[in-house]
Amino acid sequence: MRIASIGGRAQLVRPAAASDESIGGRFDLAPAWVTTDIAAASELRFGPTTESLLAQWDEFRRWAESIDDSHATGSYSPEATDPVVSNPGQVFAVGLNYRAHAAEAGAPLPEVPLVFTKFPSCIAPAVGTVAAYTSAVDWEVEVAVVIGRGGFRIPAATAWDHVAGVTGAQDYSARDTQFATKTNPQFSLGKSYPGFLPLGPQLVTADEYADPDAIDLECTVNGVVRQSSNTSDLVFSVGECIEYISGICSLRPGDVILTGTPAGVGMGFKPPIYLAPGDEVVSRVELAGELRQTCVAPPA
Ligand code: ZN
Repeated sequence: MRIASIGGRAQLVRPAAASDESIGGRFDLAPAWVTTDIAAASELRFGPTTESLLAQWDEFRRWAESIDDSHATGSYSPEATDPVVSNPGQVFAVGLNYRAHAAEAGAPLPEVPLVFTKFPSCIAPAVGTVAAYTSAVDWEVEVAVVIGRGGFRIPAATAWDHVAGVTGAQDYSARDTQFATKTNPQFSLGKSYPGFLPLGPQLVTADEYADPDAIDLECTVNGVVRQSSNTSDLVFSVGECIEYISGICSLRPGDVILTGTPAGVGMGFKPPIYLAPGDEVVSRVELAGELRQTCVAPPA
């Protein structure tokens, strides 16, 4: 099942019948989709927002299994989507979670997941602009998971049962802010300028993946592939991250976890490559679709 938020309303998203056979390729995106407004189709039992849906996740999933295409009325385009969730209670992000990325960052592999936050005020739609608030804004494509069933001390082995779905994320990072203090980086502030967390365009349930622990992700900048990997390369798997984080913090429906970025960020080049107005960043996460930002000058 796939869900998107359009105009603040949660939508079931399905490939248009005529395009069923056209799905394919590494990121498996259909050329055309239809949407079903969940609040309307459920006669206001669920929705209208994705947040309210997530609060009734188990009940909603049972209902969604019974819904056919006859309710599908809307069209879909990534440009029209809101962030999959707009105001989660908690956003966790995991740093240095791919070996080659830790190496390019010149950092040793963490012994436990290295967790920071992106403050929810930085969440943005999947398609739009990102402002170069500093001269060291960098890209980080990531697979994100959204919590559907909360919990405390969730074991890794059952962690996927707590995940509503997978979505795409860009963890934009101002490296100069992040490393303004030389000794102890402040990840959370350096990664929380407005618009630094595009999230979407679709939320995809784990059962849609052949293996939810092997999801492709890719980032291109001005058409050049800069990052290309698969979550099977994660140092700490989604389950291990959820076990570690929920061992300390209670997870709640709607919370977001960014699972880390693979090698190929701008910081890793000598000299570093950072975003400037006019640059275009396209990020893809298997099944969840494409995020696209044009870099612009910051507002005066
Ligand atoms: Zn990151």
